[in-house]
Amino acid sequence: MNRVRCLVLNAALGPLDYRVPDGMEVEPGSVVECPLGPRTVIGIVWEAERLPGTEVPAEKLRPLRDVLPVPPLSAPLRRLIEWTADYYVASMAGVARMALSSGGALKGPATMTEYRLTGGMPERLTPQRLAAMEALEGEQANIRELAGLAGVSEGVLRGLVNQGVLEPVEVDCDRPYDEARPDFAHVELSPQQAEASATFAEAVRKGEFAPFLLDGVTGSGKTETYFEPVAEALRMGRQVLVLLPEIALTENFLHRFEERFGAAPVLWHSSLKSTERRRAYRAVASGSAQVVVGARSALFLPFRKLGLIVVDEAHEVSFKQEDGVRYNARDVAVMRAHFEKVPVVLASATPALESLQMAESGIYTKIDLPSRFGGAELPAIDTIDLTQEKPPHGMWLAQRLVDGIEERLARGEQSLLFLNRRGYAPLTLCRNCGFRFQCPNCSAWLVEHRFSRRLACHHCGHETPSPNACPECGEPDCLVACGPGVERIADEVAERLPDARVFVATSDTLNSPGKAAEFIALVGAGEIDVIVGTQLVTKGFHFPELTLVGVVDADLGLEGGDLRAGERTYQQVAQVAGRAGRGSKPGEVLIQTRHPEASVIAALAAGDRDAFYSAETEGRRHAGAPPFGRWAAIIISSEDDAEAREAANRLGAFRPQVDDCQILGPAPAPMALLRGRYRYRFLINSRRSVQLQDVIRGWLRQVDHPPGVRVAVDVDPYSFV
Ligand SMILES: [Zn+2]
Ligand SMILES: [Zn+2]
Repeated sequence: MNRVRCLVLNAALGPLDYRVPDGMEVEPGSVVECPLGPRTVIGIVWEAERLPGTEVPAEKLRPLRDVLPVPPLSAPLRRLIEWTADYYVASMAGVARMALSSGGALKGPATMTEYRLTGGMPERLTPQRLAAMEALEGEQANIRELAGLAGVSEGVLRGLVNQGVLEPVEVDCDRPYDEARPDFAHVELSPQQAEASATFAEAVRKGEFAPFLLDGVTGSGKTETYFEPVAEALRMGRQVLVLLPEIALTENFLHRFEERFGAAPVLWHSSLKSTERRRAYRAVASGSAQVVVGARSALFLPFRKLGLIVVDEAHEVSFKQEDGVRYNARDVAVMRAHFEKVPVVLASATPALESLQMAESGIYTKIDLPSRFGGAELPAIDTIDLTQEKPPHGMWLAQRLVDGIEERLARGEQSLLFLNRRGYAPLTLCRNCGFRFQCPNCSAWLVEHRFSRRLACHHCGHETPSPNACPECGEPDCLVACGPGVERIADEVAERLPDARVFVATSDTLNSPGKAAEFIALVGAGEIDVIVGTQLVTKGFHFPELTLVGVVDADLGLEGGDLRAGERTYQQVAQVAGRAGRGSKPGEVLIQTRHPEASVIAALAAGDRDAFYSAETEGRRHAGAPPFGRWAAIIISSEDDAEAREAANRLGAFRPQVDDCQILGPAPAPMALLRGRYRYRFLINSRRSVQLQDVIRGWLRQVDHPPGVRVAVDVDPYSFV
């Protein structure tokens, strides 16, 4: 083969053909450097018959520059890239970029310089030097990281290097990870767990595609159950991918993993340092990374010999990517398992309706864990009707809920208050002139964060210090906070129960694995009485002394009115309720609501999951919504409102007429302005029989847009803003 077709990592370019110079060896999947004009772009050698392009005469072909020192992308991964691009109406280049997600890793083996203490003393011992030497005992890292650890400038450490107190060490960037051992610890499983894990392990041994839905109540020990098939894959020398929704909060998971396997898994998430990223990537590609625990982007890593995929908390909304290639990691995970011919386990206490439907139709095998591990009881759930039991003026917690917290305080137990709203108040306005603080870049109010004394937009990150006077009328001390956020609830608890030690747990306070670990340790040590948290605290935590969960406003999630509002509310409340009474002490859940009669709330209070799911299923069937019908959104955006509107109207003029397919719009999107871009939206609803992607592709192809206009396609959307 002396000519090859390449998928180049530039969405604006189609496939390109190149000549393979003498002596160069390539095969499908090889990662290569392709000349493009005066530049070089990265490309992947692809099967020409799967990637139609224009034939270039042999004499015009330019030679490939080089083959990069990484293993070729496997055929199953190439099929996954094709499928993802096709299904989500995305460019193959955009998907392929996710599979080549570490630039450093593509450059091949390398070393880096780290430093460590020698035990020597400097000629002059300043207080700073002494502090640094104490802080760096047992540490080894590069100068910048050490400076961070020691809290001194890099200059101080360079001085210590010159004095021979710190010495350089050459480190292999690809140094191997500690070995996870399948038989490191024996775990006692309940008969239910043992049966489920035996089924999974058998599927791993068979090495065939087999999708499972592990449907287990909160506290039933789903993690331990899927650890056994993980062990089985390790025994067979195969790799495992475990996807988790919130990688910053995996502390508890990592702890259990290490206890079971005697080593930490390989982590993959967006806040990895580039050196960690390249190390993990290369270990995955070489097959030496045994178990990878990652966020959704780990799905596209180039595993060499995958044996099992697990998606934990598979119902989580954060598995849906909302920019770039808008894919749902839960669904792509099933497709990866399909192409790799391995089992996949979707684990959840509150499965997505789509997953339940797949089980019902016999495509997924459903495995139930209906009771809690170790005989713990599910918590008792009750509602507080806020129209009857009104909180005191200017407050948000009903007396019964505060009494419940007080009882726990007296008994030395813990309480959790759940409100999915960061900050102090979602809206700030002027009492004098009515001015409201709005984000200049988004159709959104600025959220007051009182701890950090700023107003912030949760959509674009815009921030401004909280002013003392109204910027409109100049009146001082006239700004009022409207509605509660978690910080305001924490203030209220502190005011009504002055002895309680309160902690606000949100992505603002638990923004790193270190902070999360600190928080877990504090709760574990009984140094926190009341946790006030957002959805971040709804999952994964296991605190035996936590016996009361209060849902501050169960109606909040229902207000948006989007397709999954009911399901999401059910999942969030059921998950947070599942934090209560996980140890030997029984748990209680109090749900504050203005609509105790709403079907979601009633089902939660009655503990009647089946009633909720069957009502929801009927509602969706009636509305032609997923999984019974299909939705897609097309968002047209530009920094210029008129340009965006014109582009949307132009596209609208070409709307296709297809049976069983309804196209709504264009209309200003609910977030008509987001991150400085004006947005117009089409919504498409069709029957399952319609080839929706073909319809969309054919439609979009007919219209060209000016360079400032962006067109985003969202197949199976989760967010309708
Ligand atoms: Zn004012
Ligand atoms: Zn904004």
